[in-house]
Amino acid sequence: MSGATAEAQVLGFAEALAVVLGHAAGVRPAGLEQVALLASAGRVLAEEMAADRDQPPFDRAARDGFAVRAEEFSGGRRLTVAGQVRAGEAWAGEALQSGSAIEIMTGAAVPPRADAVAMIEHVEQRGAEVWAAPGRSLAVGENVVARGSEARRGDVLLATGTAMDAAEIALAAACGRADLAAYKRPAVAIVATGDELVELEETPGEQQIRNSNSYALAALVAGAGGQPARLEIARDTLEDVRERIAEGRTSGLLLLSGGVSAGKYDLVEQVLAELGAEFFFTGVRMQPGKPVVFGRLPKLEDASGAWPECYFFGLPGNPVSTQVTFHCFVQPMLRVMCGAGVAGPRFVQATLAEDVLSKAGLTRLLPALLRHDLERPGVRLVGWQGSGDLAANARSNCYAVLPDGRDLKAGDVITVLLR
Ligand code: AMP
Ligand code: MG
Repeated sequence: MSGATAEAQVLGFAEALAVVLGHAAGVRPAGLEQVALLASAGRVLAEEMAADRDQPPFDRAARDGFAVRAEEFSGGRRLTVAGQVRAGEAWAGEALQSGSAIEIMTGAAVPPRADAVAMIEHVEQRGAEVWAAPGRSLAVGENVVARGSEARRGDVLLATGTAMDAAEIALAAACGRADLAAYKRPAVAIVATGDELVELEETPGEQQIRNSNSYALAALVAGAGGQPARLEIARDTLEDVRERIAEGRTSGLLLLSGGVSAGKYDLVEQVLAELGAEFFFTGVRMQPGKPVVFGRLPKLEDASGAWPECYFFGLPGNPVSTQVTFHCFVQPMLRVMCGAGVAGPRFVQATLAEDVLSKAGLTRLLPALLRHDLERPGVRLVGWQGSGDLAANARSNCYAVLPDGRDLKAGDVITVLLR
């Protein structure tokens, strides 16, 4: 490495995760803003959302059938049908009389004095009379969802910090919320470094490489709830790297790709060190992703905005390394800046479909395919040419986590990183 730079701090994988989460725990989200309900998808709720009325707002029939007194129905009594009540209607007649039943549709309000709903499939009917089919009986409350049993008016249904997705949006809609307070999306600067890189608009020379990392990172940032800004490519000169970092550090978070390995033209750490950066790690015993750097730049004199300091990640330039290290380290930090609680990467467990050899001294995160079969969900590795293999990466849908130095057998349950 050329020139003075940060003292190397190479951590184990779990240790590095813990360091990031430790810092994330001290980060506050940006301010909040009012957004339209549908625009809240992918955002984080910045208020407590309470029920505006009881849910359900009335005793609701859960089945099509007959509203009855459970005891009469179970006793086999012949019941006279007194009328019908449909969803959206109030029962206009008087309370249910002894010896009668009221035909009712799913979603309708159960009439007064009825204490259960006999489902149509469990009823025999002749003319205006109904009774229990052989062997059928009914408990009080059966097929009735009592008013307020799902939520009481005023109950907090969604806590501040909840990630808004279809389930939460549906609940907010049920509470009549056309808009809600969400945390602002943090601005994330993305800087690709490399003399070999060209932008998409250019025709690459034979030895040149298209800058795919900026796009990968922009998509990942947007997917995690941030607002990506792709800056111009920084060439592998001190001047260029300085200039781009100066531009990027005004954002909430700075992501650099490339230039963090041990090569002669890997200048990113040097420039960050010059600017007074603190480094929390400068490498992780993982593959791909070993050269990943995490740190913080001090506050700028004229800095405004939510964050007093600018956290940065120097991600290795190899495209799969860039993406894996984003999922492991950047995503958890970014989610907290978006207002979500501190949470690690999305690890799940799955059954390995084949034998896999590990490597000593490294946690490996290899492109893999998680099959979502009902009977036999399982994971197998995708063949690849190493951490530059974007095609293999796109054939995968997760990364299999292979622990340091332990060979694995088909049938072993392993950890998988979802993306
Ligand atoms: P570096 O980390 O700068 O040593 O780069 C490692 C490898 O990743 C090299 O083969 C680079 O050409 C490639 N690479 C670096 N930056 C990018 C980028 N932005 N897009 C695609 N490939 C890249
Ligand atoms: Mg480079």
